Parts: sequence; C-alpha cells; structure tokens
Amino acid sequence: MSIDRRQWLARLAAGGAGLLLSGRARPGAAQAPAPRPSDCPLPLDDFRPKSMLHVPAHRVERARFPVIDVHTHLGWSKGEEVTFLATAADLLPVMDRKNVRTMVNLTGGRGAGLAESIRRFESAAPGRFVTFTEPAWDRVSQPGYAPWQADEIERAKKAGARGLKVLKTLGLFLRENGPGSPLVKVDDPRFDPMWDACGRLSLPVAIHVSDPEAFFTPIDRYNERYDELGNHPDWSFFGDGFPSNAEILEARNRMFARHAKTQFIVLHVGNDAENLGFVSENLDRFPNTVVEIGARIGELGRQPRAARRFIEKYQDRVLFGTDAVPPPDGDKYPQQVFKDELYEIYYRFLETEDEYFDYAPAVVPPQGRWRIYGLGLPDGVLKKVYHDNAARLLGLA
Ligand SMILES: [Zn+2]
Repeated sequence: MSIDRRQWLARLAAGGAGLLLSGRARPGAAQAPAPRPSDCPLPLDDFRPKSMLHVPAHRVERARFPVIDVHTHLGWSKGEEVTFLATAADLLPVMDRKNVRTMVNLTGGRGAGLAESIRRFESAAPGRFVTFTEPAWDRVSQPGYAPWQADEIERAKKAGARGLKVLKTLGLFLRENGPGSPLVKVDDPRFDPMWDACGRLSLPVAIHVSDPEAFFTPIDRYNERYDELGNHPDWSFFGDGFPSNAEILEARNRMFARHAKTQFIVLHVGNDAENLGFVSENLDRFPNTVVEIGARIGELGRQPRAARRFIEKYQDRVLFGTDAVPPPDGDKYPQQVFKDELYEIYYRFLETEDEYFDYAPAVVPPQGRWRIYGLGLPDGVLKKVYHDNAARLLGLA
C-alpha cells in the first residue's frame, strides 16, 4: 500500500519508527490522506500564489538621478493623423514626482501630425519632451518612395523631430500590396536612403523589429507567455507565413552593417532580451547601436546576475526606457501603463537588491508568471543608464 507523507509522519510520531524498515502500516495509526490538487482542480486564471518569502522590500519613489525615458508613446499615428493619449499637463505631475526630466515620444507621427505632437508636448512644456517622427509606410509601394522618404526625414528634422521610430510594422505587418502579398523585409533597399538620411542629419533611429521569442512558438502548455498570448492572441507570430524571429533579426543586422554611420537605439534590449549573449555579440559587431530596456525588465530581472554583468559591461550603451503608454489605453498592458507605480518598479529593479517582486503593476504578472530580482547597480552606472547616455545621443544638455 502507498501512504503519503502526512500519514508517514503521523505514524512516526505515534512510535511507528519500524515503519521505516517494514514499510507497513500499523493498526491504530490511521490518518486521512492529504487532499491532492487533483481533488480540487484550479483553473490557471484563478491561481494567485502569495509569496511566503520574508525578504526586504524597498519602495523607490524617485530615481536617484534625473531620468530620460527614451521610450514612450503619447499618441498613435495613422497617415498624417495622430490620436493623442494625454496632454503635457496630464503627464508632468507624474514626471515630477518620479524625477523624470524628459520623455521621448517615439510615435510622434509625420507631417501635420508631427507638428501637432511637437506643439502639444514640447511647446507646452519646453525641455520636458522630445519627439520622434515615423516613416510613411502607406507610401512604400509608390514609385519614387525611397528618395521622397529621405527628403521627408529632412523636413521632419526641420520641423523639430529628434529621431526616427520604426515599429515592428516593418518585418511583421508591412506587405508589398496589402493582405496576402509578401512582407517587406527589414533590409529592403528602398529604405537605404532613409537610414542614410538619419545618419547624415544625426537623427538616431529607435527600432523595434521582431518580438519576444515565445511569440514565435505555439500557444500551448510549453509557452512561457501563455497568459499574455491568451489575452492578446493577435500578438502571436507563429505560423501563418510569418518569418522566424531569427530571420527578422538577421535582416535587421544586415541593415545595421550597411548603415554604419547611422545611430540605432535597439529597443527592448536589442529585441532579444531572452538572449543576452546574442545581444552582446550584436553590440560588439555594430558600434553604431545602443540598447534600451523598455518592457523587458521581466526578462532581465529573472537573470539578474547576467543582466547586471551585461549592463556593467555596456554601461555607456544601455538607455532607460519604459515603453509607457498613458491610461486608459495603457491599462491594457500593465507592464507599460504610465503611472507612478510603473516607474517605481523600474527604479526598484535598477537600484535595489530586492528579491522576487512584481515586474508590472498587476495582480497577475502580465507577460509571464514569474517575478524578478533587483540589480543594485552602482551610482556611476545608474547615472549613465538613467540619463547621460540618452542625453549624449539626443544632444540634450
Ligand atoms: Zn514601444
């Protein structure tokens, strides 16, 4: 017969040491078996484990040094139109409380939308916002696009843009002639004049291509982002004619190699936070690149020793960013929602050695069911990551 540990220990306590030798139950030592999880099945959605660790917990309300958040979205653009998510007045109180000196609004749009973005944020609060422009994806298949886009970058710079943002549209969504037609590759030569113009005009390119590795694998019991993909099934790029993660990153790297004079800010830890070895190789191969940490502290923080070594080694090439999106839009992605708690988590991660805490202000960890460990970075490194690296790159005082 089999007995569980509860029965076994109860029998030991009742003087049943002989059980160890005989493996047999003694009369009178009976005890009910412990309930098993299979007796009360629990849907994954309802699982809310509370950590029983008694470990130090520090709330870091303000960053130790002034912060430049190089990765935020204060609006979404379509064509020349931008739908704004906030005003400067909505954002400044949080920025002041959190010691965020400057926010870089990457999705500032183009043309009339860009002008409106600059007016709405930079003019309203000089010195507190920086605006990037975006390519005109809707014109890619038109004749003459390549030189027009390069000229458009020059016009955007004159209008006040401080850089160019490339969303994962490129590589995963942008198609030659609408649905069903081939995807346009990241290293498509049509964009060469655009990348060159950015180099010539000293406009850094903030680039996000590809996505977490798990988004390219089946949504099944082995997928570490099962919950996240369940909440956002459209974020999966498994099958359906999508290229692999590696193919996209290889195309991107060919493009980096061709445009050595253009400065790239490779968002989300080089778009491969799961593989810091690969990200390091790329930083070594492409001196024209730096990385940013937005929405990837869930990856960095579960490999804290490697992450700290990585950031210390590349301390002049790592930028602070959050990928923040103001609420209510941002509430859909708690790891990105612009509010005090989001910044406090980033600061706790970078500044303290706290262990096993949430990487996002949410009841269920939104990207995957794990928690993170603080890096406790030294002051010299913190100051560079929070501020100095971005200030140098963006030409800010
Ligand atoms: Zn983003």
